[in-house]
Amino acid sequence: MTKNLYQTDSYLKEFEARVTGVDAENRGVALDESAFYPGGGGQPADGGSLTIAGVVYPVKRAKKVGDEVYHYLEGESPLPAVGAQAKGEIDWEKRYKLMRTHTAMHILCGVIFRDYGASVTGGDMDPLEGRMDFEFETMHHELVAQIERAVNAEIAKAREIRVAILPREEAFKIPDLIRTKINLLPEGIKQVRTVEIVGLDLQADGGTHVKNTSEVGKVRVVDYKSKGKINKRIYIAVE
Ligand SMILES: [Zn+2]
Repeated sequence: MTKNLYQTDSYLKEFEARVTGVDAENRGVALDESAFYPGGGGQPADGGSLTIAGVVYPVKRAKKVGDEVYHYLEGESPLPAVGAQAKGEIDWEKRYKLMRTHTAMHILCGVIFRDYGASVTGGDMDPLEGRMDFEFETMHHELVAQIERAVNAEIAKAREIRVAILPREEAFKIPDLIRTKINLLPEGIKQVRTVEIVGLDLQADGGTHVKNTSEVGKVRVVDYKSKGKINKRIYIAVE
């Protein structure tokens, strides 16, 4: 089982670990702990590199396989052995953009729920751009401009972002989490990681975020479209 270091420190760029599994066919390497985000919840997986026994292996992407995080290696260098010591480094430039983007999406969710009572139904992101679907009957230019202003006002407030890992029973008692469909979490999950933008938004979430909204930058709503009677999609860019 891989210990996911990014869950408690999303600013960790380098780490030491031990190889616990090798998938020769796909050039995948599992580690006992890793700062690589393996993808999920709309946030793409990290790339970067692993250095093992003097060989630098570029990592195309990481992926969760069961309880392990596999790191898929590029190049032709012979694969390392189980038990080898590895030094990992994530592609920080890309990751930090994703942390800012992911946080911007939470601010958008928080603002739209607070100001319009609309829930989010889906979302996806790339570095510095994202899209989210909300249960909105109508969306129009003036509404979009209002939303954009409210999002940037929250960024300017420099709100703190706190991460906590709670026992399942405790998390289920938090009213804000219940509205975000925490009850859909599989039975087997005993702990719930929560991400809180203090005073604005609280979600059960496995992704990486910045620690203060002021790090996000400026958010622009670049487009919107109807995805059916009650679903409207909003596209944002982070600058
Ligand atoms: Zn998130």
